[in-house]
Amino acid sequence: MTRLVVVLKSLALASLATMMFGLFVSSTASAEGVGAEPWVTNPELYDDPAGLPSGGDKGYIRAPESAFVSAHGGIVSDIIYLNRCTGCPGTGCNCVFTKSSINDATSNQTYIGGVQQGQTMTITEFSHPQAVWDEFVTCMRAVYSPYDVSIVETDPGQTPHHEAVVAGRDVDIMRPGVLGVAPLDSSTCEPKNNVISFTFANAHGPTAGLTTAQHMCWTAAQESAHAFGLDHALDCSDPLTYLFTTSGGGSCGVRYYRNKLIDCGEDVARDCVCGGRKQNSHTKLLAVHGQGTVPAPPTVDVTMPTNNSTVVEPFSVVANVSDPRGVGRVEVLINGWEWAQVEGVVGRTAYLISVPNDVPDGILDIDVRGCNDLDSCATDRTTVTKGAPCATADTCAVGQRCEAGRCFWDPPTGQIGDDCTYSQACLSNLCSDIGGGDLACTESCFGGPNDLCPDGFECSAPTGQQGVCRPPPEETGCCSTGSDRNGSTALLVNVGLGLMVGLIAIRRRRRR
Ligand SMILES: [Zn+2]
Repeated sequence: MTRLVVVLKSLALASLATMMFGLFVSSTASAEGVGAEPWVTNPELYDDPAGLPSGGDKGYIRAPESAFVSAHGGIVSDIIYLNRCTGCPGTGCNCVFTKSSINDATSNQTYIGGVQQGQTMTITEFSHPQAVWDEFVTCMRAVYSPYDVSIVETDPGQTPHHEAVVAGRDVDIMRPGVLGVAPLDSSTCEPKNNVISFTFANAHGPTAGLTTAQHMCWTAAQESAHAFGLDHALDCSDPLTYLFTTSGGGSCGVRYYRNKLIDCGEDVARDCVCGGRKQNSHTKLLAVHGQGTVPAPPTVDVTMPTNNSTVVEPFSVVANVSDPRGVGRVEVLINGWEWAQVEGVVGRTAYLISVPNDVPDGILDIDVRGCNDLDSCATDRTTVTKGAPCATADTCAVGQRCEAGRCFWDPPTGQIGDDCTYSQACLSNLCSDIGGGDLACTESCFGGPNDLCPDGFECSAPTGQQGVCRPPPEETGCCSTGSDRNGSTALLVNVGLGLMVGLIAIRRRRRR
């Protein structure tokens, strides 16, 4: 029953995608559900009964740990071989795979495929023009460039490697209805070695603002990453996604492994297959392969206000910010201080950012800083005058100095717990009453057992409410020892609900 539901869901989505984007999805997809009896009754002979997740056309096969070859010391190869199956089928064809209980690119065995164990499957040669292949290879190299991964086009042979087959159609492996498929170790989500993944290139066309090559790049980036333990993710700008467009129907461009926590799932959020609710594709690949090339920062060009102009409040800054990866965020720094920031929007290159009215009058060096999601940033500056240049700090904001007509704050130095009189003096940019009217550098927090405050501090608010990190209220009774007047370490006995008594080292800084 469960299996049937999954298949129906995948069909519904597939036909929707066909309607909207002219996606090639085999019309025989239903055959898999109807004719899959041996698969259900004898799963050992076929694929994992968990099968393709809902959504189905870029699936993974949940495979046990035993279905992967292990390498000495758990080392995972950094080579991905893109195999276009030149000359297949035919003599010398390098795309004949044997259905097996393991995945091994060096011996052409795969856990995947709708045939009996021991039978072979031949993938048909890549059918698109050479230019499409070249664009595809360039795209794969760009997508994997932040990691120490080699993308190669010749078979490394017995050298450990991953193999991304980019050719043929679903029927070549008797798995109708899929555009791509790969095995995933669904018990550990650990990276695996020598894994073969399939991207059925000959069933790909342009879709959702992507060229044919970019569409294949999306699929192959997803399938190859399943070998490294990545699950599906609910963000259309990451290759692990099933989503074709933004929620507004816009193109998501080339998908890159994103440096942010994204819900696991295909069409709705679900638990990740190996636990947790979210995944950061980028940090996982970084952990597996190590650092590659740091991507170039966005290009940034401030268009408004023009250099040496005069502004009156309220005013906004307009800048063109573009990056092949997309823009992560755009910041506006004035005389060295960040006054405004906006999140990047998929597909947008023109950004209009309002400058707060409380920016003091004077000469303003406005730096617009554009960053991608890997924190590669570039800046463009425009200098303007708002009102009159400052003559003294009297017209500046609290804590600012005036020099050369500019109001500015010195770079912050205040650590959490340090005295302060204004927030810009704090590294955390928050100077707040932490109890008893004392102002100190602190951080905002949500109350609860895991309030994320540093050691020696607790959140001032009840569970789930927003507060600030502060030292625990001082015990006035029996158990407080030591002095907190000079930054020394005091020991407080903390009695938690009468259940346990713990000794917690409290480090307090002088606040007065
Ligand atoms: Zn997938």
